[in-house]
Amino acid sequence: MSNVFCNFPWKHNYVHTNGKFRLCCTTAQDIETDDQYHSFDAGKHSIDHYWNSARMKRIRLNMMNGIKTKDCSKCYQQDDEGVDSLRDPTLMEEYSAKTEADGTFTGHAWTMQLQMSNICNLKCKMCSQMYSHMNGLELQEMGKISPEWLLWVKEQGANVNNWTNDLGVKQEWYKNEEFKLQMFEHISENITYLNVVGGEPTLIPEFYEMFEYCDKQGTLGDKSVTLVTNLTNTNAKLTKWLPKLKSWKIWASVDGVGERTEYIRYPSKWSKVLESLEFYRNIMGDTGAITLSPAVQLLNIDQLDEMVKWWKDWCGGELNDQYGWTWLATVWYPLICNPNMAPQEWRNKVADKLSAYKFDGFYDNIVNNLRKEQIPLEKRIELQKSFIRYNEAQDRFRKVDKTWRDLCPDLATAIDKEIS
Ligand code: SF4
Repeated sequence: MSNVFCNFPWKHNYVHTNGKFRLCCTTAQDIETDDQYHSFDAGKHSIDHYWNSARMKRIRLNMMNGIKTKDCSKCYQQDDEGVDSLRDPTLMEEYSAKTEADGTFTGHAWTMQLQMSNICNLKCKMCSQMYSHMNGLELQEMGKISPEWLLWVKEQGANVNNWTNDLGVKQEWYKNEEFKLQMFEHISENITYLNVVGGEPTLIPEFYEMFEYCDKQGTLGDKSVTLVTNLTNTNAKLTKWLPKLKSWKIWASVDGVGERTEYIRYPSKWSKVLESLEFYRNIMGDTGAITLSPAVQLLNIDQLDEMVKWWKDWCGGELNDQYGWTWLATVWYPLICNPNMAPQEWRNKVADKLSAYKFDGFYDNIVNNLRKEQIPLEKRIELQKSFIRYNEAQDRFRKVDKTWRDLCPDLATAIDKEIS
């Protein structure tokens, strides 16, 4: 049972960018309604609607009986491969004892990941319509100029852009006043660990409404909040609420130093990123923290050493509980962002450069993996051609000052040589 059990269906609520309830961020399965033909949606249902639904009760009973659930296949696979998964079997006996015979659990979740929306102001290289409506809008605009190009992007699927339909559509489940208030009430009363992700939460008025609501109820002091932000926007209101929280952490999505992050996280400005970091540092006190969370990918992996050095420098020398670093965001899809598709000669050179600097075990793993050939030559060349076609079309459309070839000349030379 402990090889299958996970306490997330007892302790955690997860709302995806499109409002769908899921078990957690690892699964791509929406929780289906009792008719089994629809899925629960925060714009149409409350937490109470889905929490003891037939599907949730079945998942709990299965877990308690050692039966695997399809929602958790990624964790089971990682467990089998000996990789740390998110699956958390702690408190198995306690949660099982509190579960009724039909799988009902009358307690509440106390942790939550709230994906506020897909509303974002950036069009990052590794992103898609699911997490940035601007990404979808741009694809749509480019498709008006070249329908053939857009069709090609769609056919390429996860090779070049994690394709979804509904390009440009903003997902705004919180516009339903009744369910929005029920959500805020639930968060205020029950949730003590809240992770807020987007899109870009700081652009969404309802994000601030949630703080205002909890502040009025006097519940901010029992909450630890993590805010994932691209640092392109701050709001003075946060200076009022963040210090009232039990603790808070900024997960700073920065993907390079200077013009490299500006290119990947288009159209962000490095000066604004630095300004936002100072904004949070100024209100950190003893309860705040900032963790740098780069999405390691083809266009920044050669700069990892410079990124760590810059970040340590900004933090005043060494990293600690308040100034941290996380490796959680390594980009596998779309495949043209995956460093494994680069020519081996270039990967070896990058490994040599990075290995001259010492950081931590994960950094060493990245260096070691760079030295191993991961994708067969034929597939690599196919991806490299797609990489060039996708990025060159985007560079022309965006009229960027510096193209990927200007920013990564060694990579450009290596790819040109491999595909010739
Ligand atoms: S086993 Fe993994 S996928 Fe399933 S609920 Fe737990 S963390 Fe999520």
